[in-house]
Amino acid sequence: MATVDHAQASELFSSYWDEELGPDEAARLEEHLRSCVVCRREYEHFERALGAVGALAHELAPRGFAAGVVQRVHKRARGRAFASRGLLDRLPYELFSLLMLGLILAIYVILQMAQPGHLRLP
Ligand SMILES: [Zn+2]
Repeated sequence: MATVDHAQASELFSSYWDEELGPDEAARLEEHLRSCVVCRREYEHFERALGAVGALAHELAPRGFAAGVVQRVHKRARGRAFASRGLLDRLPYELFSLLMLGLILAIYVILQMAQPGHLRLP
């Protein structure tokens, strides 16, 4: 029987909490939680966080609701949602806003030099 590692264990937390794991997978996760204090503590945090809203959310949402939502979003967005965006994806926008700020500053300076002290905005 293959065991789960830390990353796999934490990925299984929400399915385990929703009782969606098969008996084998649940047993493997429980095995890991017994032997690994890091994941056990992480699961306790997870459990407490969900337990705080559990009385409300856990009873209102049908089982597998969250997974269904994620699945549907993935399907509709064809993998664009939740995709990790690298620095290169964001950089152009930040560069663009910097350029615009620079442009506005340049216009202001040019107007000030043309009419020092008498800048009138339309
Ligand atoms: Zn672990």
